[in-house]
Amino acid sequence: AKDGGRGEMRIFEPRMDEKIERERELASEMKGALERGEFHLAVQPIFDLAGERITAGEVLLRWTNRRYGPVSPAEFIPIAEDNGLIVAIGGWVIREACRVGRDWGDVTIAVNLSPIQLRSAELPSVILGALASSGLCPERLELEVTETVLLNDIEASLTALDAINRLKVRTTLDDFGTGYSSLSYLTRFPFQTLKIDRSFVTDLERNPASVAIVQTIIDLAQKLGMRTTVEGVETQAQLDQLRRTRCDSVQGFLLGHPLPVDQFGALFRERSLR
Ligand code: C2E
Ligand code: CA
Ligand code: CA
Ligand code: CA
Repeated sequence: AKDGGRGEMRIFEPRMDEKIERERELASEMKGALERGEFHLAVQPIFDLAGERITAGEVLLRWTNRRYGPVSPAEFIPIAEDNGLIVAIGGWVIREACRVGRDWGDVTIAVNLSPIQLRSAELPSVILGALASSGLCPERLELEVTETVLLNDIEASLTALDAINRLKVRTTLDDFGTGYSSLSYLTRFPFQTLKIDRSFVTDLERNPASVAIVQTIIDLAQKLGMRTTVEGVETQAQLDQLRRTRCDSVQGFLLGHPLPVDQFGALFRERSLR
């Protein structure tokens, strides 16, 4: 048992070291990444329930590092939040999204916002600057915020969301239904769109109760004047179930994967000509 214990330690320690070492390295690589042009955007189409019209594109950040190659946002966003670089990187995302999206036509551009960005005092001026330099009309920009952060500091969250809405930029409550979500979010915060988390969709085929839950959330959101999007639609069966609800939009690999910005622009133009 003693040997076994040591064996485990030997296997475990290097892995922990490697993980911490990789995090440290990524944090340090991240410092010059904007200047080196290592970031780019992908855009995933969001469709109306019929699947006919693209109503929006969600902008997703991509990082290809000179040493580590592609790093997923699930890995690097938390690091950027820890070392504070998320404010600069996230500001670049907003400016770049407005710049590339301006000429796409009548489609909403949805950009993810980190809680750190939401609480940063410079956010309104970053948004104003991005709108002014791109010429994008504010109604076409929508900022997605995940629910987990809001209740930590209700006052600050409300102030920030109001400031965004005053610029005529819309807000989405993202990943709804995960974590300690509560229906009170819907009445407490001024969101125009509610995005229902993928976990509900995964469950749709197995569990008929999920349809009822999703339907109830959608009904409530709509009564409160919010639009609803369901994310993570991967199968036709899931889409068929969702069509029985009256959600406004659907997003997922079944309908469209994240695309390079040029391809998204072309897809939107081609679709809107039909
Ligand atoms: P999210 O905001 O929930 O974005 C949706 C994620 O789900 C994306 O992953 C997308 O590629 C993936 N996805 C879309 N459809 C499907 C589907 O049908 N099935 C499955 N399994 N996945 C699907 P991605 O691009 O890896 O982004 C992961 C997360 O990283 C995002 O989750 C978001 O929280 C964060 N993120 C991405 N870009 C940014 C950004 O510019 N700023 C901030 N703060 N966070 C970002
Ligand atoms: Ca999102
Ligand atoms: Ca989401
Ligand atoms: Ca998510």
